[in-house]
Amino acid sequence: MIKQFLEEIKNHKKIILYRHQKPDGDAFGSQFGLGELIKDNFKNKEILFSGEEEELKGNYLNKIFKGPLKKIDDNDLKDALLIILDTANIERIEGIDSFDNVKNKVIKIDHHATAEDYGDIKIIHEKYSSTSEIISEIAEKSKWNISKKSAEYLLTGLITDSGRFMFSSVSENTLHQASILVKNNAKTSKLSGMLNDRDINFVRLQGKILSSFKVNKSVASYMMPKHLHKKFGVSYSTASSMVFLLMSSKEIKYGLFSSYDSKNKVWKVSIRSKEKPINKIAEKYSGGGHKMASGAKINGKGEFNKLLKELVNLSSK
Ligand code: AMP
Repeated sequence: MIKQFLEEIKNHKKIILYRHQKPDGDAFGSQFGLGELIKDNFKNKEILFSGEEEELKGNYLNKIFKGPLKKIDDNDLKDALLIILDTANIERIEGIDSFDNVKNKVIKIDHHATAEDYGDIKIIHEKYSSTSEIISEIAEKSKWNISKKSAEYLLTGLITDSGRFMFSSVSENTLHQASILVKNNAKTSKLSGMLNDRDINFVRLQGKILSSFKVNKSVASYMMPKHLHKKFGVSYSTASSMVFLLMSSKEIKYGLFSSYDSKNKVWKVSIRSKEKPINKIAEKYSGGGHKMASGAKINGKGEFNKLLKELVNLSSK
């Protein structure tokens, strides 16, 4: 697969890199990391990064990822190779709604379980901690030059999607790839400064969530009221990363967090588990993801309570 992937890169002058909506460190990391690697290792390539500048504006990751992001139009698509990173469902791809009218060659690179089968070439490693880990391994195997910039992008993906190298998805290969990136001048201390120095309002919102979440059996839950976005000046994409806060107590085995996505007019849900898989439950609510970390979409309080009940039932089985 990697051989075919490299052939396609060679055969196309223009390459468009896509990733999922509501980008996290791995989505941006694999998108920009692969983009830099292609620029550095192949001559005369035009690389476009699908997205909107807005996505970087309120995002704490903008200290690391600077763009440029581009809303892809029909002209951009002409003769381009499309590479979709870190995205299991078509509807979550930022910049593509469907492949019905897409004539381009499509490559999918992902570490999620396959939710929808798309792409002409697929490089999927479900056991890997991150898509950035897959990209780093491709760079290693292909003996590519790894610049400091691409090493930093990929290490950010590795660090954030592996829970700072603490999740069960962390393997010998994860650490091996991290060591390659560090060898190529990515500094963990620099990234840690950029990832941990958060806005004071963000910290205050954490306090609010920690003092307000509810516990039912071993399930912690919190539905963030819409007005708190304004009160704490925290964007939807930042707020939606807060589920980890619910998981820090030993009594809690499952976490359910929801915040309102005003752009798409939907309540986004994050579900986490320390025990049984929850991805099948997420799939019932237009979602999916990993066994222990999934996301979904709901229409309001009623569905939130329904989902909560399913988790409480699961926790008591
Ligand atoms: P999140 O809670 O947004 O951090 O997402 C946790 C995991 O679930 C990630 O791997 C996401 O890619 C995946 N995920 C989140 N939302 C959805 C969704 N609506 N559909 C499918 N997968 C999702």
